[in-house]
Amino acid sequence: MPLLEGKKALIFGVANHRSIAWAIAQSLASEGAQLVFTYQERMEKYVRELAAKIPGTEVIPCDVQSDEELDSAFAKAGEVFGGSLDILIHAVAFAPPSELENPFVQTTREGFHTALDISAYSLVAMAKRAVPLMQQNGGSITSLTYMASQRVMPKYNVMAVAKAALECSTRYLAYELGEHNIRVNTISAGPLNTLAARGVSGLTGFRNHVAEIAPLRRNIEQSEVGDTALFLSSNLARAITGETLYVDAGYNVMGA
Ligand code: NAD
Repeated sequence: MPLLEGKKALIFGVANHRSIAWAIAQSLASEGAQLVFTYQERMEKYVRELAAKIPGTEVIPCDVQSDEELDSAFAKAGEVFGGSLDILIHAVAFAPPSELENPFVQTTREGFHTALDISAYSLVAMAKRAVPLMQQNGGSITSLTYMASQRVMPKYNVMAVAKAALECSTRYLAYELGEHNIRVNTISAGPLNTLAARGVSGLTGFRNHVAEIAPLRRNIEQSEVGDTALFLSSNLARAITGETLYVDAGYNVMGA
């Protein structure tokens, strides 16, 4: 039987064919999950085109900075899924470009707030709305983080602070939601050429560095993050929660 037969997954963060969320969607669908995507208004055309490639996938608009839009997205997903949800994927992040160009010490209050709101608080906001749909049968919540939360990666700036908040939120959510058998984990992915990653300068140079230094001597692919999300979302990972799981060809273990 497929690993996710009969499972219902709500995925935030598909923007285009390079999106990590799209790779996750393909992995989850390949094992039988029914999907709903949410999208940011300006991405609607691309997201509808991608959704059409996986039969039965519904799409719902949602800006994660709006409580009203989050309420409406979860209500609509609940209707599509018949009142329950098994899998939630959080693959959204944003920081104003100037905050990634200027020195970190110049971070503005507004930029800090925006980055933390969209990239970290949104996980808590989503989890709160997922609980009523998951608490009967349990569930799995997975987000995407980056190693800059733990070590200095020049130019990652306020996004690194947001990722640290996301990882810490993962642990607190895992603790509180564990009593409902809801697991919460985050995948720390190596650098991938996506829309969001292009906002951080030096991506190509850093990917070359990873290919040289990482134990596997290569970069990762979106599909490898997709398959890890599939594992975490499935019963195979039933005792794993609160974790930050690195999918980076081993780069994070290196000291030199
Ligand atoms: P992406 O640009 O394809 O995805 C980012 C998504 O965030 C987009 O779908 C965008 O519409 C969404 N988003 C931004 N602001 C939003 C808002 N206000 N409301 C709703 N949605 C909003 O890029 P990606 O690299 O696939 O990013 C997905 C996740 O993976 C992010 O959390 C990112 O930080 C993380 N990540 C990426 C890399 C990388 O190298 N690409 C590495 C580690 C972690």
